[in-house]
Amino acid sequence: PVITRFAPSPTGFLHIGGARTALFNWLYARGRGGKFLLRIEDTDRERSTPEATAAILQGLDWLGLDHDGEVISQFEGAPRHAEVALQLLSEGKAYKCFSTQEEIAAFREAARAEGKSTLFHSPWRDADPATHPDAPYVVRIKAPQTGETVIRDQVQGDVTIRNDQLDDMVLLRADGSPVYMLAVVVDDHDMGVTHVIRGDDHLNNAARQMMIYDAMGWDVPVWAHIPLIHGPDGKKLSKRHGALGAQEYQAMGYPAAGMRNYLARLGWSHGDDEFFTDAQAKEWFDLDGIGKSPARFDTKKLENLCGQHIAISEDAALRREIEAYLQAAGQPALPAAKADALQAAMFCLKDRAKTFPDLLEKAHFALTDRPIEADEKAAKALDSVSRGMLSDLTPHLQNASWSRDTLEAELNAFADAQGVKFGKLAAPLRAALAGRAATPSVFDMMVLLGREETIARLTDAAA
Ligand code: GLU
Repeated sequence: PVITRFAPSPTGFLHIGGARTALFNWLYARGRGGKFLLRIEDTDRERSTPEATAAILQGLDWLGLDHDGEVISQFEGAPRHAEVALQLLSEGKAYKCFSTQEEIAAFREAARAEGKSTLFHSPWRDADPATHPDAPYVVRIKAPQTGETVIRDQVQGDVTIRNDQLDDMVLLRADGSPVYMLAVVVDDHDMGVTHVIRGDDHLNNAARQMMIYDAMGWDVPVWAHIPLIHGPDGKKLSKRHGALGAQEYQAMGYPAAGMRNYLARLGWSHGDDEFFTDAQAKEWFDLDGIGKSPARFDTKKLENLCGQHIAISEDAALRREIEAYLQAAGQPALPAAKADALQAAMFCLKDRAKTFPDLLEKAHFALTDRPIEADEKAAKALDSVSRGMLSDLTPHLQNASWSRDTLEAELNAFADAQGVKFGKLAAPLRAALAGRAATPSVFDMMVLLGREETIARLTDAAA
C-alpha cells in the first residue's frame, strides 16, 4: 500500500510551497487507496512554536487535505531516534568521536591552507575503544569513503554523488540528542512511508539520508524531489510576491477547490487539462507528470480556475465557504436572513465570480436594506428622465404575475411603449434595485426581492 506524508517544520504559517507539497502527497495517496500521514518536524526547539503548528493544521484544514491517523510529533520520537544511533554504534557502523570544536576547526584550517577538501576526517573513526578518553563525544556514522551513491529520483532522474564528498555525519550530539537527518529517516521508516514527495531543496539531504538507510539495511522510499515555485518574474517565490500563506488566500476569498486545482497544476500536468475536479486530480495525479523546471505562480490563472470552481459548486456549500471566508478575512458575519438570501440568489451570482469578494459585490442587492444608496456609477443612470420612467413603471408591477418570464415580457413591453431600448430601462433599474451598475439580471433580482420590496426600491429611486 502507498503511504505518503507531509512533514512541515512548525516555524511559520503554511506557505504556498508547503501547501503544494502537501497536496501532491495527498493526491498521490488518495488516488491509490493509500494513506497520507502528517508529521510535525518540531525538533528545532528554538524555532518551533505551537502557534505555527496550529496555523499549519488550519491551512491544511481549509484546503481539505485530511490526514490519516494522529499528528506525529518528531520531537517526541527522540528516544527512538537515539536508539537507532546506538544500534549503529554497537554494530560498528557508527563511532564515538571525541574531537573538540577547536580540533575540527584546526583540521579545516590546515586543509584549506593545503588546498585540500575541508571535509572533516575524524581520527576516532578507527580508534580502538580502549583508547577512548572519559570526555564528551558525538556519535558519527561511518560514511562510505569510496565509490558513489546514486539517488534514484522520480523527478530528477538518477543523481550521483561521489562518496568521497560525504563526511561522517553526526547522528547524536554531545548531549545525546539525535540530529534532524537521523530523525527524518527513522520516522519515514517507522511510519512505513513508501513515497516521499518534497521540495528539491532536500535533494542534498537525500544522499546523507541514504547512508542511514544503507547502514540500517532499510528499504529506501521512492523519492520525488519537486522543483520550487517561482514568482511571476521567474525568481524564487518570496515575500516580495505578496501573500504567501495558504490562509491568506482564504482571506482573499479564493475557494479551496480552485486553490487545489491551481496548486495541482503548479509543477504537475496531465495533458492539456487545466480545469479539473478533485476526483479527476486523484485519478490522474502521478509522479511522471511532475516537471523538472520551477513552476511560476500566476494569479490570473488561479483566478480563472477559481471562477470555474465557483460556477460548479453547490449553493449550500458556497454559502458555508463564504461564511468561513468572511471570518478568515475578519469581516462581520452575515445575519442568518442575509445568508439565506445569499444562498437563494446563488444561482445568478456564481456564474462569473472569480473570488468571493467578486460574488458578494454582485450579491449587494440581496445583502443591503433600503434605502439603497447608489454608488457613483449607478447614480449616473438615475437622471430625471429615468426616474420618471421608474415611476411610470411601478403601476405595471402592481398586478404583474411575479415570475421571471412574465416580468421579462412586461418590462420589454414597457420599454417598447416608452420608445427606449431595454438597456435604457435596465440601467436605472439596476441602480434602483442594487445601487450598482453591474448586477445580476434585473428579472432575477426582482424575483428574488419580491413584489413589495421591488416596488419600494423603485419608488425610493423615483422620488
Ligand atoms: N521539515 C522539512 C521542511 O519543512 C521537510 C522534510 C522532508 O520532507 O523530508 O522543509
